[in-house]
Amino acid sequence: MTSAAPTPALSSLTHGTPPGVLIVGAGPAGLALSVALAQAGIASRVLEQAPLSTLEDPPEDGRDIALTHRARRILEQLGIWQRLPADEIAPLRQAKVSDGGSAWVLPFDARDDGHEALGWLVPNHRIRAACHAAARAESLVTLQGDTRATGFGRDGANAWIDATGPGATAERHAAPLVVAADSRFSGVRRLAGIGARMLDFGRTAIVCRMSHAADHEGVAHECFRYGNTLAMLPMAGHQSSAVLTVRSDDAPGWLALSPADFAHRLSEQFGHRLGAMETAGERHAYPLVATYAHRFADARFALVGDAAVGMHPVTAHGYNFGLYGVERLAAALQLAQEAGRDLGDAAALQRWADEHRRTTLPIYLGTNAIVRLFTDDRAPARLARTAVLRVASRLPPLKTAITRQLTGRAAAA
Ligand SMILES: Cc1cc2nc3c(=O)[nH]c(=O)nc-3n(C[C@H](O)[C@H](O)[C@H](O)COP(=O)(O)OP(=O)(O)OC[C@H]3O[C@@H](n4cnc5c(N)ncnc54)[C@H](O)[C@@H]3O)c2cc1C
Repeated sequence: MTSAAPTPALSSLTHGTPPGVLIVGAGPAGLALSVALAQAGIASRVLEQAPLSTLEDPPEDGRDIALTHRARRILEQLGIWQRLPADEIAPLRQAKVSDGGSAWVLPFDARDDGHEALGWLVPNHRIRAACHAAARAESLVTLQGDTRATGFGRDGANAWIDATGPGATAERHAAPLVVAADSRFSGVRRLAGIGARMLDFGRTAIVCRMSHAADHEGVAHECFRYGNTLAMLPMAGHQSSAVLTVRSDDAPGWLALSPADFAHRLSEQFGHRLGAMETAGERHAYPLVATYAHRFADARFALVGDAAVGMHPVTAHGYNFGLYGVERLAAALQLAQEAGRDLGDAAALQRWADEHRRTTLPIYLGTNAIVRLFTDDRAPARLARTAVLRVASRLPPLKTAITRQLTGRAAAA
């Protein structure tokens, strides 16, 4: 990290409103933040290494994202939800958790909590496209693609990002506040001197859209089998999003199967409950590493999205947490701006960071504990798995608490 003032010799794009906030990463978290800031009257510039054409029409990546009630409300307020194709939003009415080879399941039903849906499933590339369209529509947002952040510095008045821009030009971009939204392996987080705890599960999630003969009736299944875990998430029509979690050294074998063999093995693992199955998309593999930043904020610096908290997907909280952080950070910055205070003021950022930590840390730790327990196939763990599920089923308040976590109502402000 450098302490010198920004060097004017480096070229920098200066068109548009000077940004109050510089955001690195135009993923769904960075873009949502830019829209939330624009609604709060704060100009931002978003630097993204991918070309703008990719942001406009992101490729399908196999991820289907379960969104909570609170996340939906935030997306609606940002005008992003309205840009999602209605026929690709699938309600999640029930979730059923099963263990090992047992036919017994622990059910969670949205109606138990007075709702029609526990949440909604939406393809990730549709969320990304909707975030991009909403950001493009805001005059206070400047998007810059083909720009890779390579350095970070700050002084009393500004923070800045050194970057390799379009045509390999060296650029420096400055603003009172830099926000890193550049994924769970955030390079800018590291450049800013902030570490992260990382938990490598040694597992890989293989995701693939499947079509099937039977109706899923809006029910998600999480099957903690012995040896691997299979989630079937209900998508629009007779389709489900399969999330198969396997030991990473088994992943190449699963990826090498022909589409027909893959569908057959998956259907077999699922007990043929959805009838004949076929693959309806490409398989994508995601090595599973959970990350949690040591700090979410520092002088003139903050982290959002996976750069702050990178969750294991089993409890489907990753992007939901990203949106909760975006909503609260934008609100904190709006207060600072209205009071005429510096947007990079460390004390104001710290209050936001403390609140976000209180929301996310218990679920981050709980999720990792669940993953450890349900991927441990030794006899004591098998007994503990069964006990945990049976206890949860017999304690309605515990089930309600879990349902509220699933819907995001527990964390709703
Ligand atoms: C299999 C799977 C299933 C999931 N299911 C769910 C779910 O059901 N519910 C849920 O809430 N979440 C889920 N998630 C998590 C969710 O996908 C992530 O939380 C979310 O995509 C993170 O968004 P982000 O914007 O923080 O990061 P990313 O999407 O990783 O975007 C980061 C951006 O930063 C850019 N970038 C990186 N480095 C630089 C640099 N140096 N300079 C410029 N740009 C840079 C990248 O190109 C990218 O565009 C799932 C994840 C996986 C893998």
